[in-house]
Amino acid sequence: MKLDIVVPFYNEEECLNEFVGTLKSSLDKVSGISYTYYFVDDGSTDRSPDILDTLAKSDERIHVIPLWENHGHQKALIAGLDQCRGDAVLMMDGDGQHPAETAVKLIQVYLQNPEFAVVQGVRGGRQQSLWKDWTSRFFYWIINKMVPETRIVPGSSDFRLLNSDALHLIRSYPDRHRNLRVLLASLKLPTVFIDYIPDLRLGGYSKYGWRRMVGLAVDGLFAFSSFPLRINLFLMLVSGFLGIGYAIYSLVVYLKGQIVPGWTSTIALIALLFCAMFGALAILSEYVSRIYEDVRQYPLYHIRPDRRSTKQSREVPVNFLREDGREKEGEGTL
Ligand code: UDP
Ligand code: MG
Repeated sequence: MKLDIVVPFYNEEECLNEFVGTLKSSLDKVSGISYTYYFVDDGSTDRSPDILDTLAKSDERIHVIPLWENHGHQKALIAGLDQCRGDAVLMMDGDGQHPAETAVKLIQVYLQNPEFAVVQGVRGGRQQSLWKDWTSRFFYWIINKMVPETRIVPGSSDFRLLNSDALHLIRSYPDRHRNLRVLLASLKLPTVFIDYIPDLRLGGYSKYGWRRMVGLAVDGLFAFSSFPLRINLFLMLVSGFLGIGYAIYSLVVYLKGQIVPGWTSTIALIALLFCAMFGALAILSEYVSRIYEDVRQYPLYHIRPDRRSTKQSREVPVNFLREDGREKEGEGTL
């Protein structure tokens, strides 16, 4: 099997030497596979490109893809995926947080279960900071609520192996703002999940500050859900009910003669105008969401690579292999 390995990095001079050394020595022990490494330099401004150039000179399997400037982790990953020509691709971070032993495990699980299109690493344990832990839980919760057809297993990271069918599918999505985790979850490919505990960074600092994390979450949400636009419809209904209720109430109060002249008509008018305004916005939103769907040019259909029926492939269990090799119970089907 030909395996491509995609590693995006941005200013990781303190990590790269050790990361590449450990990864190569672990992977070289897995027999029957030839590797090509694609290190995507996401506009680094430190010594990381020099370090990789030196490593590439001594190992022809290492390729460096230098991006013009810093485009962000997701786009760097896509740039790497676009280069891949092998039978499968493994993506992992270049800071050493995705353990090399788990990478070996992802590969072995795929070799033993080639019916899976995705072998997905799922972060176990707690994140480095409570803040990251909570925000990531909140992100998965909100995505799973707002995009009902998507079910992301909390903790899913960009540490995964894809077969060439899955890679092909991902490439057919032309979004400029891509969140691979949500995209993959929405495709519902046969997936096996592997728990892992992230290591500490080999050095340096996290490049995912709160602004980037919010950006990633927003990309995931807005690309797959027009729910935010449809809030207008909901607001129209709420203001309509409230408006009618309030108009009736003010009429009753008026008939009882307990009010200042002009109050009833003002209140009723305001309430009904709000309803009409949200109604007009709801209609606009509906058009905007259709324009959006057309503009982003999602593939209209996917052709199944195998001859299994949709029902059969949906029955693929969401396997969740644990560290000790036991399967978690009750994970259900996709
Ligand atoms: N990264 C990148 N471009 C960026 C930010 C990060 O290529 O703009 C890389 C980074 O070098 C690392 C991976 O993406 O290999 C994950 O980033 P980081 O470790 O900073 O995120 P965290 O693990 O803290 O969520
Ligand atoms: Mg990291």
